[in-house]
Amino acid sequence: MSLIKKFKRQIISPAVFYSGLPKLFAKFCDKKSLIANFHGVTPHGDDIFNKGHIHVDHFYRLVKYFKDNFNVISLEDMLRNHSKTRNSKINLCITFDDGYLNNFTVAAPILHDLKLPATFYIVTRTLEDPSFILWTDVVDYALLREYRRCKFSFGDFSNPEGYDPVQKLFLRDYIKKSGSRIYRIIDEIMAEIPTIKNEIKEFDFLIKTADKDTLRAASANRLFTFGSHSHSHYCMAYLNEEELRQELTTSKQILEDTLGTKVETIAYPDGSYNEGVIKLTLETGYRQGLIVDFRLNERTVSLHYKPRFSISNTTNY
Ligand SMILES: [Zn+2]
Repeated sequence: MSLIKKFKRQIISPAVFYSGLPKLFAKFCDKKSLIANFHGVTPHGDDIFNKGHIHVDHFYRLVKYFKDNFNVISLEDMLRNHSKTRNSKINLCITFDDGYLNNFTVAAPILHDLKLPATFYIVTRTLEDPSFILWTDVVDYALLREYRRCKFSFGDFSNPEGYDPVQKLFLRDYIKKSGSRIYRIIDEIMAEIPTIKNEIKEFDFLIKTADKDTLRAASANRLFTFGSHSHSHYCMAYLNEEELRQELTTSKQILEDTLGTKVETIAYPDGSYNEGVIKLTLETGYRQGLIVDFRLNERTVSLHYKPRFSISNTTNY
């Protein structure tokens, strides 16, 4: 990281952040509530291939700030409107996507100490196969490792640097649009870089997802609840009806069987949804969907949908 960047990130930005500007900003965007969305928390450096994991010190400062300046409530209370607004503070929920193991080994103990509730959104395919690696992690690692050498070429996508100038698509976006073909493309990437499976293990603390026992142990803590993040982490808007139904029902079933509780909310991978997705989500027994809203604008969403603000290690304060 350059010195200027470092200075900005470590000195200027936190100073602006902690002066209370974001709270003011949040007031303009949504008068009553805010849902924060994390992915991972790591004790290691944050300049690594997966930007979704923030450093544990950064995480602690953020959630402590949340505790001091917001009413941090459970998602269930927010959705059921049970939250009492005792003061002028904004209600805030803490959520995590993807079900990484570090959510439970690093983040959960901090949340427990600060008595902060949180909801974890799990990709249930990771519960069935402990060696399963999310496609997003494989792509991020492949791009980092082979950025200039590897000729990624799948279907009608082809460009040596991961960008197709004809389709104006980055590899990641091309894969997102591949619906349920995603893991076939991942297999091709793995075949093209045969050492990837071993190399990526070096980043276990980032890519490893929690197993069933870890989830069960965490669910014994009344602060923590769980929701679906789909079964396979496909972008839902690119699936056909049958695939979609399968993703929604399988994920719900596995989580309910694992935890012994009802699962009523889903956070769509990559925030990808459309009208068909909403309809099937409600038909398959979910009450609420969450979407990621990177821009924190005043977009109108349906009664069943709540936008979230995503926080990564590059989130600008
Ligand atoms: Zn995700």
